[in-house]
Amino acid sequence: AGQDTAALVVRGLRAISDLLHEHEDELGRLDAVAGDGDHGRGMSRGSGAAIEAAERVAADGAGPAAVLVAAGDEWAAKAGGTSGALWGAGLRSFGDLLPDDREPTAEDLLAGARAALESVQRLGRAEAGDKTLVDALIPFVDEFAAAVGDGAGPADAVGRAAREATAAAARTAELTPRTGRARPLAERSVGTPDPGATSLAMALNRALEVLSG
Ligand code: ADP
Ligand code: MG
Ligand code: MG
Repeated sequence: AGQDTAALVVRGLRAISDLLHEHEDELGRLDAVAGDGDHGRGMSRGSGAAIEAAERVAADGAGPAAVLVAAGDEWAAKAGGTSGALWGAGLRSFGDLLPDDREPTAEDLLAGARAALESVQRLGRAEAGDKTLVDALIPFVDEFAAAVGDGAGPADAVGRAAREATAAAARTAELTPRTGRARPLAERSVGTPDPGATSLAMALNRALEVLSG
């Protein structure tokens, strides 16, 4: 079961990396509105390094947790930039909570998502409303918890939570940044969604497609 799950994780990371490469220019343009324009490049580079590391350790027989830890470490090391460090820490924390000996349940995935949010906030210190990827991740985790409370299985819970993250990422357009590199040009960003929240919502929807087969 561990190796099936590891293979699913590798497929998910591959799909996310392909998606981020496709959207590299668009994410760069979003970041250029009030930031330094490198978000697309950073997400491409980070996710590309992550999938290479994931495939390497999975080929050596690693379980899902070890695959995600390796992917997270490479993402943080190679992306450069704030979002790369946060994605790396989040993937690593998510992986740490996945079981290596059985298929993850919706509860396991929720525990992983909560741990990812915690480490992103521990590292970045962003709160809800600061106009960062945290503004997509908190609604994702909250809706995930609500779905698990309703007895939803993994794919249904991720589906509900990913839809919520998408809506929340769109709503960041109304916010004024209070942290991160966009801070000096804060007013200019009003009307444009946060790049990190946008790419996170994209990635979560892609992960859902892989999970749903
Ligand atoms: P950089 O800002 O270093 O150029 P990127 O352009 O790759 O990094 O990423 C920018 C994104 O990172 C922002 O849109 C925001 O979502 C996210 N971000 C920046 N600072 C923080 C923070 N302290 N906590 C959470 N997310 C953050
Ligand atoms: Mg940037
Ligand atoms: Mg930068």
